[in-house]
Amino acid sequence: MKTATTYVHAGAQPDPSTGAIMTPIFQTSTYVQEAPGKNKGFEYARSQNPTRQALETALAALEHGQYGLAFSSGVAATDAVIKLLVPGDEVIAPNDMYGGTYRLFSKIFAPFGIRFTYVDTSDINNIAKAITPQTRLIWIETPTNPLMSITDIAATAQIAKESGALLCVDNTFASPYLQNPLTLGADIVMHSSTKYLGGHSDVIQGCLVMNDTTLRDKLYFIQKSCGAVPGPMDCFLVLRGIKTLHLRMQRHCENGEKIAHYLRNHPGISKVFWCGFSDHPNYEVARRQMNGFGGMMSFELKDNRPENVTRVLSSTHLFSLAESLGGVESLINHPATMTHASIPREERIKNGLTDSLIRISVGIEDADDLIEDLNTAIG
Ligand SMILES: *Cc1c(COP(=O)(O)O)cnc(C)c1O
Repeated sequence: MKTATTYVHAGAQPDPSTGAIMTPIFQTSTYVQEAPGKNKGFEYARSQNPTRQALETALAALEHGQYGLAFSSGVAATDAVIKLLVPGDEVIAPNDMYGGTYRLFSKIFAPFGIRFTYVDTSDINNIAKAITPQTRLIWIETPTNPLMSITDIAATAQIAKESGALLCVDNTFASPYLQNPLTLGADIVMHSSTKYLGGHSDVIQGCLVMNDTTLRDKLYFIQKSCGAVPGPMDCFLVLRGIKTLHLRMQRHCENGEKIAHYLRNHPGISKVFWCGFSDHPNYEVARRQMNGFGGMMSFELKDNRPENVTRVLSSTHLFSLAESLGGVESLINHPATMTHASIPREERIKNGLTDSLIRISVGIEDADDLIEDLNTAIG
């Protein structure tokens, strides 16, 4: 089946009792059993829910994997992956990634004895050098939030395989439409479904997709034992979002390209971070492993005094000043005080995330209107 057909039909079965074409929202906590141990495959909604099951089937199809698991948020999905590990195990992770992932790793799991080594994963030699006999997991995010750096997934998968470590890819920025890490050799793909999968800024959710049955069983055990499951209404919303993911991503890419070039040619802007520029350091890798470059980018103003950065951030009208990304509407964000405030300032600056960096999530509005909005704000 081709992508567009998969996105519309994945996981969707007419409801057997009514014929309802849309998967019903099974708002129930438990299921009546005929006799002890005799049930229809559903016992208690933390363990199984039909709406969630439909979504998990769809998520697996989108990422060309065997199994999907939905979680109550992206960080809950990440949390489940790290719970595969035990004290003393080591994780290699990027030094430029979503702030909440860094916070989870360094503030919650490091005190439990999981060790994290942060490297610039855009150069895979840095990953190879950081491998030790205790390395159990390589975690990458590509493109990264917010500096849009790119890591070679296939090459990292090779290193992971040789060292007996798992590779998990946070694929949130690309979405399954632009990149499928499992087909490049990754063991697990993670999404914040809150972003492009949901696509309408109305739900918090996360997911994992994998191929290996043993790995699926372990992660399912963690999902039901730790209980960070999404409610059925939220599963319904993400299922609905998925049906238009391909259409939305096409427009995000078109608008993203126009706006990236507009920003780059603007005399008031000193640098634009977007992985679709042919002089992006890993452009060839991005071209190889992605089907497009998306609508996420960040930039620096030439006049990067705090008062000017604040002025620009506060004067757009179509771009709303807010955390998050991947919705139909455009957003503008200040990583240093918003999405990445949980990373210590010196760490941030060392990795190139300055106090003046501005990140935008380009929506699916008309590109001319978006450019006019930025033009007025930047001045
Ligand atoms: C938002 C985000 C997360 C966390 O997901 P939540 O749904 O907010 O818990 C993880 N990784 C990336 C790249 C994100 O943008």
